[in-house]
Amino acid sequence: MPDRLAVPVREAEVVADVDVCVAGGGPAGLGAALAAARLGARVCLLERHAFLGGNFTAASVGTVCGLYVSEGDSFSYVTRGIAEEVAEALKAQGSAFGPMPFKGTAVLLYVPWAAKRLFDHLATDEERITLFLHALVADVVRDGDRLEAVVVATKRGPQAVRARTFVDATGDADLVVHAGAPWTIGDAGQRQYASMQFVMQHVDVGAAMAAGLDTLGKLIADHGGHLSRDSGAVLPTLRPGEVIGAMTRVRAADGGPLDVTDLAQATYGELEGRRLAEEAAAFLIEHMPGFDDAFLADTAPTLGVRETRRAVGEYVLTGDDVSGLARFDDAVAAGAWPREYHVTGRSTEYVSLPEGGWYQVPLRSLRPRGLANVWVAGRCISADHDALASTRVMAPSMALGQAAGTAAALGARGDGSVASVQASLKEQGAFLG
Ligand SMILES: Cc1cc2nc3c(=O)[nH]c(=O)nc-3n(C[C@H](O)[C@H](O)[C@H](O)COP(=O)(O)OP(=O)(O)OC[C@H]3O[C@@H](n4cnc5c(N)ncnc54)[C@H](O)[C@@H]3O)c2cc1C
Repeated sequence: MPDRLAVPVREAEVVADVDVCVAGGGPAGLGAALAAARLGARVCLLERHAFLGGNFTAASVGTVCGLYVSEGDSFSYVTRGIAEEVAEALKAQGSAFGPMPFKGTAVLLYVPWAAKRLFDHLATDEERITLFLHALVADVVRDGDRLEAVVVATKRGPQAVRARTFVDATGDADLVVHAGAPWTIGDAGQRQYASMQFVMQHVDVGAAMAAGLDTLGKLIADHGGHLSRDSGAVLPTLRPGEVIGAMTRVRAADGGPLDVTDLAQATYGELEGRRLAEEAAAFLIEHMPGFDDAFLADTAPTLGVRETRRAVGEYVLTGDDVSGLARFDDAVAAGAWPREYHVTGRSTEYVSLPEGGWYQVPLRSLRPRGLANVWVAGRCISADHDALASTRVMAPSMALGQAAGTAAALGARGDGSVASVQASLKEQGAFLG
């Protein structure tokens, strides 16, 4: 039994009193805050890091997945609305390139730094959004089945944000957990592993790309038995001589997947991630064409985490729903990314959807059980491990955020009904099917 002590009850200054409070400023939280503000709600967006974007920026993932569905020889957007707006804005400023064909679908390559600045502008251009960075939501104030406020840990002690409705876009279901509502986390065999992305500069990108996409896997098979993964990619950022390395698998000290809600494991993961990044960069310099004069410029600002806690909602989306291209009467988003698994062992597995196919996500998967004024979005929606393997990527996360923000804004006005949410999303240009 761990040692425990009572923490004195303290009062918290209320620093914002709004219609909609969004916790977490990753792809889902950004989508939620923008959608709610554009519907006229006064929004407070809370982000624990110094910048917005979540894994988009903090983990430097390097490609936006799940934007497109294949249409024979070409691709069209399956996640429209805010996800499409972000993709087109990055492309318009020369900071993104795509669709790039990949595994029967396609991705958008982008520059993480450019995304960081775009998100600064998107959030601050909406005058109804109050943005607080360095704002870790550490608790909630609950009254019956409703949240009244969230409590933010700050240098000045606890501060509170009061709201009519809330969106949990923390990726780890922090609001749901603090509220005492049902949540789940996959056991070791059912949880995706984390990765540490890294940036290399002074690369001869032309030579690296000319070697072909399969080269890295072959080189790892021949010389890289010591590396943490047997495959991966080097992703051009579109800036001269620069690539992002996506080729680490960060395991906990016991070899299993990390649970980064545990301080000791989170710390271990960051340190181990940087060690593995260094190891992978050294391998590229030694073996990969175009890397002779390259150097490891930096690792991503934080470890990239794919799967932790998620809400148990009114409906749990399943892997069969995703692969069976499910349709729902209360659909609020669509997705088309394959089920992508970074699990035990060194390989990464993809389970493709039927060609040209897409599935829907119901509003019920965004409704945590037992909480009347909370919606969840992004990688902490109510989904099983196999559904999450597809829905967790960034374009569907933005679409789920847009849906949750819409429901929360309408809910704050007293009409969060399925029909109203769907009508509003269609008006906003989101694709539900
Ligand atoms: C290494 C790696 C590579 C990936 N590659 C790709 C890829 O190439 N393409 C792709 O589309 N997807 C990729 N993904 C998946 C994708 O990045 C994420 O699943 C997606 O970002 C989920 O969005 P989200 O907003 O739900 O969560 P996150 O991106 O995790 O964002 C959550 C945000 O909430 C903040 N937060 C958390 N807790 C609190 C709190 N208590 N208070 C305040 N703020 C809080 C976090 O700081 C973060 O900004 C990858 C993921 C990883 C880890």
